Amino acid sequence: MTEPDVSPVVEGVRQFVRREIAPHVARFEAQDEFPQQVVDAMAGLGLFGMVIPEEHGGLDLPLEDYVAIMEELGAGWSAMPSFLNSHCTVARLIATYGTAEQKARYLPQLADGSRRAAIVLTEPSTGSDLKQVRAQAVPQPDGGFVLSGQKIFITNGQRARLHMVLARAPAADGKGPISLFIVESEAPGVEVSRLIDKMGFKHVDTAELRFDKVRLGPEALLGGEAGKGLPQVLSMLETGRLAMAGTAVGMARNALAVALQYSKDRETFGQPICNHQAVQIHLANMATQLVASRAMIGEALRHKARYGRADMLASMAKLFVTEATMQITQDAMRVLGGYGYVAEFPIERLYREAPIYVLTEGSNEIQRIVIAREMIKADGPERLGLV
Ligand SMILES: Cc1cc2nc3c(=O)[nH]c(=O)nc-3n(C[C@H](O)[C@H](O)[C@H](O)COP(=O)(O)OP(=O)(O)OC[C@H]3O[C@@H](n4cnc5c(N)ncnc54)[C@H](O)[C@@H]3O)c2cc1C
Repeated sequence: MTEPDVSPVVEGVRQFVRREIAPHVARFEAQDEFPQQVVDAMAGLGLFGMVIPEEHGGLDLPLEDYVAIMEELGAGWSAMPSFLNSHCTVARLIATYGTAEQKARYLPQLADGSRRAAIVLTEPSTGSDLKQVRAQAVPQPDGGFVLSGQKIFITNGQRARLHMVLARAPAADGKGPISLFIVESEAPGVEVSRLIDKMGFKHVDTAELRFDKVRLGPEALLGGEAGKGLPQVLSMLETGRLAMAGTAVGMARNALAVALQYSKDRETFGQPICNHQAVQIHLANMATQLVASRAMIGEALRHKARYGRADMLASMAKLFVTEATMQITQDAMRVLGGYGYVAEFPIERLYREAPIYVLTEGSNEIQRIVIAREMIKADGPERLGLV
């Protein structure tokens, strides 16, 4: 398979993954412990600061490189982008909306990975519909807040030392303004109430968090302005979705490479199974889906570079690529036969991991709603990239 030309920084990550990660993935997966050495190596490469401006110690990479790095990491060991994606979203939120003090205090620590971050939005009673969040930040006479509430499914929730929490002010009708708050994990009242067991990504912690009357200073309010939480979060989704699509392409690339090699090595009825047309159909479908996936991401990136935003195309890319990746991992399993189902080969793991991308960063049902809404509200189809 040919690989597209990439920038030196992406090439550096690709070589790092090939040399230091890919050969050891089976061992990492078998170990029942947090892969701190991998996280340290990513920090050493500056990856925790990918989206942070250089003046605050980051690499400030262009979006194309960020997405391409997610692909390389996803192709090497899909757990790695999971450590990074929500961290980078928080970093981007602070870099975009933070006050000068918030940037100076947090961005250098986020950039060198000494403080990892979690994005804390979902609650037991609401995920897609974030307008319904119930966590409360009660304003105090000194300008600070007292934060209480429960959050669920938080990636990095246990190990993160900075939580970006969505909460609302109290109001008689329960619909007080929603804001984002920067909460340090050391603050009294921040508690990991439960770790959640899940189908894949065993090494990435997913936690339920409880905030029990956590006292926050006025400086905890992102950007210093109340009521901006939802637009701030929503503005990050476009890049988050492209990063997720990049990760999914990496996983699909891995699945196809394993299936293709296996089909050449495995013989039935006196010949390699890649000579059987039924297997060739699987391989052809997988490769076509993979190339189409990359093209979708490229289209969204080009449109964004030209017009500044590409919400519809980013949603299309996330929708198409993540569904394709689910299909590709399933097709790979068929090519490997029984070996696709056992842990000796990576396919059973990729098959378990792929669905998460369909469900999160806006489920794929929500992506379809975004796509239709963007089309309906647009002035002209050329602004959407449809003509
Ligand atoms: C492993 C993992 C990691 C996660 N990490 C984080 C994290 O770091 N931070 C965080 O805040 N959250 C995180 N989440 C939560 C995730 O973002 C939510 O699960 C997701 O937003 C969906 O919310 P929900 O599960 O409450 O489903 P719901 O919102 O209850 O949706 C249930 C179903 O209804 C569909 N649906 C909902 N509304 C509509 C509609 N209007 N039209 C059509 N269909 C609709 C959905 O597509 C879905 O199929 C994580 C979840 C998992 C499983």
